[in-house]
Amino acid sequence: MKGTVYLIGAGPGDPGLLTLRGKEILEKADVVVYDRLVSPAILGMCNPKAKMVDVGKMPTHHKVKQSEINRLLVQFACEFPGGVIARLKGGDPFVFGRGGEEALELVAACVEFEVVPGITSAISVPAYAGIPVSHRGIATSFHIITGHEKADGRTCHPELYETKNFSSQVELCPLGRSEAESKDPGQNLSLDFETLAKCPGTLIFLMGIANMDFIARRLMECGKDPKTPLAFIEKGTTPYQRTVMATLETAGATIARENVTAPAITIMGGVVELGQTLAWKKNLPLAGKRLVVTRAAKQASGISARLTALGAEVIETPMIETRDVIPATSSVIPATSSVIPATCGERSRTKAGISSADFNALANFDILAFTSTNGVESFFRQLFAAGYDVRVLAGKKIASVGKITEKKLLEYGIRCDYVPEDHTGEGLGRLLRDVVNKEERVILSGERSSESKDLIESRILLLQGNLADDTLLKLLPQATRWVVYETLPVAELPEWKREAVVGADAVVFASTSAVENFCSVILSYTTLGASPLSGSYALWVGERSSESKNLNRESLTTPAFCSPRLAFCIGRMTESAARKHGFETVTSDETTMDSLVKKIVEHYKKES
Ligand code: SAH
Repeated sequence: MKGTVYLIGAGPGDPGLLTLRGKEILEKADVVVYDRLVSPAILGMCNPKAKMVDVGKMPTHHKVKQSEINRLLVQFACEFPGGVIARLKGGDPFVFGRGGEEALELVAACVEFEVVPGITSAISVPAYAGIPVSHRGIATSFHIITGHEKADGRTCHPELYETKNFSSQVELCPLGRSEAESKDPGQNLSLDFETLAKCPGTLIFLMGIANMDFIARRLMECGKDPKTPLAFIEKGTTPYQRTVMATLETAGATIARENVTAPAITIMGGVVELGQTLAWKKNLPLAGKRLVVTRAAKQASGISARLTALGAEVIETPMIETRDVIPATSSVIPATSSVIPATCGERSRTKAGISSADFNALANFDILAFTSTNGVESFFRQLFAAGYDVRVLAGKKIASVGKITEKKLLEYGIRCDYVPEDHTGEGLGRLLRDVVNKEERVILSGERSSESKDLIESRILLLQGNLADDTLLKLLPQATRWVVYETLPVAELPEWKREAVVGADAVVFASTSAVENFCSVILSYTTLGASPLSGSYALWVGERSSESKNLNRESLTTPAFCSPRLAFCIGRMTESAARKHGFETVTSDETTMDSLVKKIVEHYKKES
């Protein structure tokens, strides 16, 4: 049984415009064959284990031919029996997307397929510019037209006619033009201009920017009013959206003057004027900025959502991943890469992983202290997997390092007894020490042995990750620590993410380990091969860094991969780690996400 191919429309750019059905399939896809125009945020939704095939570009920077894409789809259907092959295309797969051709090929090869329609740019991009494609009394029909055809009259593949990606300011690249057409763009168009000129409805041209001068001329020659209002909407629905107004007679000159670049649609007709009143998309402070957020996936969503709401395009690139510690490997703390120091000292009191038997041993502890949401999640996941439930915690006191961990515990129905005011490990240690001292006094007044202090303290259990420092263990010398999860550095980035990072404006760092891991991963993609700490390393983050000035650049190979130069850092430690690697830094005043987001907005406000 062959795999099934799903022809999925990714929508026009805004990841929120992907359909639920599309998302559902991407999440379980074995292979994703995607086009150039699909946004990184949508690629980020795909099953992380899926084979990602970029047919917008091959290693040689030429796109894969349509016949080859057709062949690949059939090949993957055969290679993944019963599998899910997602063919992800911009907008709607059947609107100038050559989805029909792919479907025919699948039918011929007896491959099952499903079409998941997408929101076409033809209507959604005008909508994001406040232009309704139809409007009572102004336009009773709308017509979607290709503005580019091959010499033989076939519709050009959109990817042959697109820019490298949404954010890059690259020239329009009408590849695959015939020589004659290069001299007079548009002459190959087989459009019926007579009919189009007479048509009273809204005209929407896709892929038409390079030929628009010709198209506008022909429409006017055929009698269309030169004053017909017209809008070019570039990179619609993305953080880079731009609307440029013109009239039929000024179309070509406006494109040249305003440097309108693909992907853009052209919309003509009376409805365009409504855009002046209905343009609803606010000019957001971070519009047009692509920011790489290096926080761990689970923690990234908060800051990502806020930066996105401020208009930025966020590329979530977690540099660490966490996983539960498997008890079989228990006695030693799992080895981590050298870029994340394993700081757990005092190993004798530290135990990695929890086995079922350990849950019985919980009876020996009176106070359970959690220092991260990861710790809470890993603990309960393992508890439930071992067949227990929260009743094993009955009667125990629960401590949390801060409010976020406290909130996470509440999700499991657990209210915290102890939370330090300063939300630090040290604060928690001191708080628990006070608790122990108080208990001791109670016990002493009950004329019990003074040795009981140690006894009480030994009944404290710390549930932490492998990278937790020894602050708590030092403050509570008799406490026990279970390492319930481990943090590992991410060793590689998928190709689409590497490309998104290269085109980004800045990287957001919330910890020194994120800086170190990011640099280590990026370095593995450069051809420099230098040690992360050597001067030459600074080259790929920015030539302006002080270290790079002393370098003999001739002796270095050009980096194959380049990180943005600018780093937004939370806290001074993160800042100094980023500087060490050659980043220009902007650092939050306080070590909070609020402060960092504020700083990012201020930075770009100053810049503009
Ligand atoms: N199947 C796609 C269209 C593919 S043709 C759809 O249904 O939208 C590619 C053309 O679509 C581009 O040349 C451009 O004219 C238009 N387009 C796609 N995405 C766009 C966007 N975000 N903003 C403006 N135009 C876009």
